[in-house]
Amino acid sequence: MKSLAAKISLGLLLSAVAYGEGTEVCLSDRVGLNSHARATFDAELLKILKPIGVTYRPACTEEALRIVLLHQPPTVYSGSLGLAYRHGDRILAGLNVYFQPMVKLLGPQASATTIGRALARVAAHEVGHYIFQQTGHDERGLMREKFHAAHLASDDSTPFLLAKN
Ligand SMILES: [Zn+2]
Repeated sequence: MKSLAAKISLGLLLSAVAYGEGTEVCLSDRVGLNSHARATFDAELLKILKPIGVTYRPACTEEALRIVLLHQPPTVYSGSLGLAYRHGDRILAGLNVYFQPMVKLLGPQASATTIGRALARVAAHEVGHYIFQQTGHDERGLMREKFHAAHLASDDSTPFLLAKN
């Protein structure tokens, strides 16, 4: 039975890789992160997306899936850290992450390092919605519904790696 379980999880892993393969994402920064926050954002997003086969390129091209960093979410989604829009069952290629709600959530833990890294974790979650065309959430891992401030601020990326189970 052990080998069956191993086969199943390998199958899921392979399908996850196939989903993301060939997809390029980039950041359109409308907030203007400082260079330190941007460096931690870039490093963290690269780290989380690589295992699911997605390439992160800091500079946007026409073909790349764009993550737009804005100051505030729309009023109806006030407090949201990020949004992916859907049309019916389809997740659209417009992904947003929001700076001010993150600063507020991190509170005294907010620094260039933690803000950049935490925004990257939320960005990776929104990319996951698009790559997997997943409208719902998982119990744990990258696609969980809510992230704790302590996890977002932590230098441990493990809670944000994909957990398909
Ligand atoms: Zn979500």
